[in-house]
Amino acid sequence: AIAVLGSTNMDLVAYVPKAPRLGETVTGREFRTVPGGKGANQAVAAARAGGEVRMIGAVGADDFGVRLRAALGAAGVDTAALRTVEGASGTAHITVDDEGGNSIVVVPGANGRLTSLEDGDEARIAAADTLLLQLEVPLGVVTAAARAARAHGVRTVLTPAPAQPLPPELLAATDLLVPNEHEAAALTGLTDARQAAEALLQQVPAVAVTLGAAGVLCAARGRAPLTVPAPRVRAVDTTAAGDTFVGALAVALGEGRAVREAVSWACAAAALSVQRPGAQDSMPARAEIDAFAYA
Ligand code: ADP
Repeated sequence: AIAVLGSTNMDLVAYVPKAPRLGETVTGREFRTVPGGKGANQAVAAARAGGEVRMIGAVGADDFGVRLRAALGAAGVDTAALRTVEGASGTAHITVDDEGGNSIVVVPGANGRLTSLEDGDEARIAAADTLLLQLEVPLGVVTAAARAARAHGVRTVLTPAPAQPLPPELLAATDLLVPNEHEAAALTGLTDARQAAEALLQQVPAVAVTLGAAGVLCAARGRAPLTVPAPRVRAVDTTAAGDTFVGALAVALGEGRAVREAVSWACAAAALSVQRPGAQDSMPARAEIDAFAYA
């Protein structure tokens, strides 16, 4: 089973010809509310890929909270450890312009009030084979969860997004770090992905740097790094490509598949997701991933 500790957000998306400048008002074409947040995205991706998934997180006591919980449930994610806390749910206020460029304001809301593990969380983590973590909830609880996982021999996979300096105790309890190129550069000051991965291996035993259409660079201590190419597809929306990759990867690793095979299967899942619009909506089901990966 897979445990995910992380964020749930309602994405409020306005489609505009051109993003407004400071003080300017523009008329948008369309508005949508879609469930998001890196934690929830990874949970949904893993569930679609065939994983048994439990989500530890927090939504607000508002309408969005009700919808966010329902969306996770509909995807087959266990939400028993998703608390409802006072105040607003996390929201991301997004404008997308005609060129596909976006600007985003994230208000953490309930995610910011997920500050500690509660009764039952440690048992949930201990019962999993893999714990997925990201950085959209307070670092203290992320670190506590990673340490609980380590204490129970559970594999921890950390997506270091949004990029920020990481406490040594968190890195010390991380088995696999999955940054994209920007995050790898932000963490190390090195823009070359291979050099960044080498540097990160000083702190964690394995790193997978996602390289967009170029695939994934896998590096582990004591082994030659290898690049797993991404399938060539026509991308229309790469939102949550990284989260789709991580969710599927967790499922494949949990089944005991070899790293190369697992990464390649997860790349197939991500490549399917970028060919259709949306975040959680675009995530492929297991049968679809198998059909594409082994075609
Ligand atoms: P993030 O979404 O976190 O910014 P990336 O852009 O690196 O991360 O994408 C994550 C993964 O999604 C990549 O490693 C790759 O497997 C897949 N992916 C992203 N963009 C494409 C693309 N244009 N074509 C095929 N696969 C893609």
